[in-house]
This record gives sequence, C-alpha cells and structure tokens, in this order.
Amino acid sequence: MTTSPHVVVIGAGTLGMWTATNLVEQGARVTVLDGQAIASGSSGRSVGVVGTQFTDPFELMLRGHAIPRFRELEKLGLRFNHIGYLRLARTQEQMALFEKSVAMQAEKGFRSRVYQAGELKQLVPHMDPDGLAGGIFGPDDGFIDPHEMCMLLAERLRERRAVIRQFCKVTDVERRSGGGYRLTTSEAAIDCDIVVNAAGAWAAQLAAMFGQTLHVRPERHEAVTILLDKPLDYTMPMVMDLVNGEGSGLNFRHEKPQELIAEVHKVASLEPEDPETYNDQCEEESKIHLAELILERVPHLPGARLGRGWAGLYPVTADHRPFVGPIDLSEPTLVTAAGAGGYGIQLSPVIGQVAADWALHGAPVSAPGAEALLPTPARNIPV
Ligand SMILES: Cc1cc2nc3c(=O)[nH]c(=O)nc-3n(C[C@H](O)[C@H](O)[C@H](O)COP(=O)(O)OP(=O)(O)OC[C@H]3O[C@@H](n4cnc5c(N)ncnc54)[C@H](O)[C@@H]3O)c2cc1C
Repeated sequence: MTTSPHVVVIGAGTLGMWTATNLVEQGARVTVLDGQAIASGSSGRSVGVVGTQFTDPFELMLRGHAIPRFRELEKLGLRFNHIGYLRLARTQEQMALFEKSVAMQAEKGFRSRVYQAGELKQLVPHMDPDGLAGGIFGPDDGFIDPHEMCMLLAERLRERRAVIRQFCKVTDVERRSGGGYRLTTSEAAIDCDIVVNAAGAWAAQLAAMFGQTLHVRPERHEAVTILLDKPLDYTMPMVMDLVNGEGSGLNFRHEKPQELIAEVHKVASLEPEDPETYNDQCEEESKIHLAELILERVPHLPGARLGRGWAGLYPVTADHRPFVGPIDLSEPTLVTAAGAGGYGIQLSPVIGQVAADWALHGAPVSAPGAEALLPTPARNIPV
C-alpha cells in the first residue's frame, strides 16, 4: 500500500463524514460518495441528542472520545445547545446505577447529578413524578443539528482537498487483481485502495455487493413536534422516560421557545423497512400514543398540541452496538462503519475515529477496547 492510500467512504451521513474527517486528518486521500445529498438519510431525520447519561463503562468510554470532538466543532461554529439531559428511573436499582454513573462520568470530566423524585420539578416544573424514583441529569448534554454538523465537516473536508460527490450512487463493485477496488457508480467508475461502508440503513445491501453478509436492520422510528400557546419560563431539557426493560416510552426536549420535539419508543419488535420505500411520515396512532404519554408525564403544558411529525430509520444491530471494522479480518481494506441505531449522531465522531484506525492501521489504535465493535461472526447475526 502507498503511504497515502485512496479511501472511498460510501455514505455522507454522520458516520461517513466523521470517518472521512479522521482519515483526512491522518493524511489519507479521501472521496466521499453519496447516492443522495449530504445528511439526507437517517442523519437528517434524527432529533440530534448528544448525551453521556449512561451506566455502562463501555458506552462512557466511547463518549469519552466523542464529546471532545463535538466541543472542537463547537468552537468552529457548530451550535451545540447545552440544554441538559435528564434520564428518569422508576426503581431504586436504576437509581443505584445512576449513582455509579455519576462517579464514572466524573472520571471522564463529565458533570452529572442524581435527583430524587421529589427534586425533579426543580429541573422540569411541569413534571408529574408519579411512579418515578428519580433521575440523573447532565447539564452539559444537549442537541445539535446533524445536517449542520455534516455541512461543517464537508466544508473542512473540502478545505483539506477531500472530494465529496453527492448524487453518486455505488451500483456495483469489483476487486482489482492488483489489490483495491473498482466502484461502479451512477457517474464514472472510481478506483481506490480502501473502502468504508458507511451506508446506514443501506449498509447490508452495500455489503452484499462485496459478497459479504452484514446484519444491519433498518427500523422505523417516529418523532413529532409539540406546539405550545406560550413559551415556558424555563428550558425543557432532554427528558428520557423509558419504561423499565420494555424499551417503550418517550423522550422530549425543547426545540424552540414554543416548540418541543418528542420521540416515541415502541415495545413491539418492528419489521425491517426498505430504506427506499418506507413510510417517512408519523402515523396518527403514534401521535395519539405520544399525546397520552406526554399528558401523563408533563401535564398542563400551556395549550400543548401536536405539530408536524416524521419517521426515519435506526440502522440496528442484534446487540444494539455499532459495527466498526472489517467483517473479514483477512480483507482489512474493506471496513464497515454502520449500525449505530438510535445513537449514530452522538457516537459518530468515535465511530469515525475507530473506522479510520482500522482503515489505516489495521486496529483501533487510538481507542483501546473498541475491537469490541468489530462485526465478528458472534455479533454479526440477524437482529
Ligand atoms: C427519529 C430519529 C431520531 C433519532 N435521534 C437520535 C438522537 O437524538 N441522537 C443520536 O445519536 N441518534 C439519533 N438517531 C439515530 C441516528 O439518526 C442514526 O444512527 C444515524 O443518523 C446513522 O447515520 P449513518 O451515517 O450511519 O446513516 P445515514 O445518515 O443514513 O447515511 C447513510 C448514507 O449512505 C448513503 N448511501 C446508501 N447506499 C449508498 C450507495 N449505494 N451509494 C452511495 N451512497 C449510499 C445514503 O444516501 C445515506 O445518505 C435518530 C434516528 C431517528 C430516525
């Protein structure tokens, strides 16, 4: 391989753009291809939350890499709205985990605090704490606009001579006899040394073009805005209100003075969606369910009514952790960066970092422990 390999990143969502950024920073020649526009896939349909309120050390390790990159971009103009993140608990067992999380987060330099049920109104005066044990709150967490982030990364990539081709879909691939790949696209064919599959909900289809099996299932999720008659006299932090062990419930946060955004989580295991044809609108039934949940948790919001809704796809893996690295270790030039589920915005800087490590160094050298994200046969199983 040359000292400056040509890497093609397929997909210009948050994972692809951060992978390209990390590659360029290490001197690779990079081309990003997207069949549509930058951030037009799941990344442009998310609610943009970036948080660290986790109880699993591995998840915190990943955020320990990701958050400093968001802060760097913030200095370069990314609007990171630090409205805080409140994760609610219904049991004392969860509260004990939250106490541990506060200590683990402090080691990474993240601020957080546990609130008892009776204190939650300090953060959300409209909250009905019925059924809650309390919560954990990180004041520095918040939300970004993933489209804005991708555009900012695109600008920086172009400054560093990376090429970004939008509306350029990869339709076929060929392994060249001397090494590397020839990609047939909707425009001209492209030759390269290394490929990164960052195709989000399309990642399985793309892997199949290379003759590989990748179990990333596109799962439909819905979000809705809630309009208010008048602004609240406080900022509604991101509130995560999940029912224990069921994966159901909702999250919501302020978007504008008179607008909240909420996302509904459903219990049922959903059917895989076709990313080309799925229904990208929010269904009436979900809106009604959301209204019920909101009324239960934050009753008396002034004149609250539902506004526009939409749906997007979580690219999901069986263990709900992303796949980062080669599927086949004997072909280290074909790297996957996909399957980030509901965390692909907040994890994108570290996924990009680890994917670039695999592409250029053959191991996650800058993030020890991230080998656990490899799509090994044990992990790469049907969802
Ligand atoms: C409603 C909703 C709310 C969410 N909220 C959050 C949140 O608050 N926080 C969070 O962290 N995450 C959130 N997510 C999840 C997050 O949006 C995804 O995990 C993330 O956007 C995945 O990014 P990606 O780059 O893998 O995929 P995408 O953004 O989908 O990018 C993949 C790109 O690949 C391109 N592509 C596919 N095939 C080809 C091909 N053959 N040739 C060329 N290009 C191709 C596509 O056009 C697409 O642009 C949410 C998701 C949804 C749906």
